[in-house]
Amino acid sequence: MGYWSKLSRTQYAWLAGTAVAMCAVVAIGWALQPRSKEAIPEGITTAMSLREIAPRLKTTGKALARELELPLSTSMRTPVSELGISEQTLNETVVHLASHHGTGLKYFVFAALVLGGLVFLTQLGRPADSPSSERRRWYPRTPYILALLVAAGVCGFALGKSPNPMEGAVKLFKAMVGLQPSVPAVVLAFMFFAALAVVGNKLVCGWACPFGALQELVYSLPLLRSLKRRKVPFVLSNSIRAGLFVLMLLLLFGVVGGRRGFVLYHGINPFNLFNLEFESLSMLLTVVAALVLSLGVYRPFCQFICPFGLISWVLERVSLNRIKVDHSRCNQCGSCIRACPLEAAKHLVAGKLLAADCYSCARCLTVCPSDAISYGSVFSSRPPSLTQPPREGVPET
Ligand code: SF4
Ligand code: SF4
Repeated sequence: MGYWSKLSRTQYAWLAGTAVAMCAVVAIGWALQPRSKEAIPEGITTAMSLREIAPRLKTTGKALARELELPLSTSMRTPVSELGISEQTLNETVVHLASHHGTGLKYFVFAALVLGGLVFLTQLGRPADSPSSERRRWYPRTPYILALLVAAGVCGFALGKSPNPMEGAVKLFKAMVGLQPSVPAVVLAFMFFAALAVVGNKLVCGWACPFGALQELVYSLPLLRSLKRRKVPFVLSNSIRAGLFVLMLLLLFGVVGGRRGFVLYHGINPFNLFNLEFESLSMLLTVVAALVLSLGVYRPFCQFICPFGLISWVLERVSLNRIKVDHSRCNQCGSCIRACPLEAAKHLVAGKLLAADCYSCARCLTVCPSDAISYGSVFSSRPPSLTQPPREGVPET
């Protein structure tokens, strides 16, 4: 009760207004949904050419060729049976491509979750004018866990794998080699996810991405605490993530490998979990490995692999809301560094320009004895509720 009883009237107004706004955003998305569900197109046979089949699947001939493991230079007019494609292979490909047609409602749910996270972090997490002696009551975990459950349950299992932030990033590059039917739609989808990342430090990853949420939920289980104290060096995880990204570009553009249009991330896409369909063993292994590792390592897929994780890390430099450290109050006690599951807090306290990913998880916001760490707009200075004077320094352990 302590947290709820200490919220001010203004904060209750924020809470009610945000709940209404979130519901309104989702309701608009619901109202804009096409009423009839898209069915898997019928009547597609191997007697048809790539040019005839592709529009029925809302894809390009090149994308279809790539899915059928044909070179991008394959004739678009030849019946696919003459290209060595069996009826079974074609049917499986049709089902797979149809599964990519996501629901637009999901964009609205993503936006609602990010809005909720932003208001919680900037307005609601900390009762107004509460002193730092009460900091352990700030930012209760329940709203975050609820957001994660909605992200995984609704943005994942209920609404399927598409769209998602990782796909939004990958499709942008696929469009550059003709693998996407509508370039403006792909650019808009990417800009949507990028904009959510700019609104608040990786908020879309931290609060809305379904696979990020699943990893976060597994990591939140009270297990393997000693392992969790060890953090992966950011220079290592980010080098692997960036290296994979560069390799993806080289393969996609045919600079290496000789298979222009090959998408490296396809075989390790964990979002297939949300359609309960694994086209390859590597996809299943990626999901299992990421979730098992999440017991002791924070968001391993995000840290080591996800291309949107890399892009949103770059975008953190221009995020409008983020963790802020007041260096005049910081006594270098190391409490936030120990609370942070990554090296983000360590880098922020050190004032590093290229700090490690911060997922806006709020763990560091409840531990600072001198009230030096807060979450807010880059345009505001200090929150008005910081009332306690800085404490004496405590040596880092
Ligand atoms: S980095 Fe993680 S949370 Fe962000 S889009 Fe990728 S999988 Fe989702
Ligand atoms: S604990 Fe780390 S990741 Fe979480 S909000 Fe603080 S700095 Fe960011």
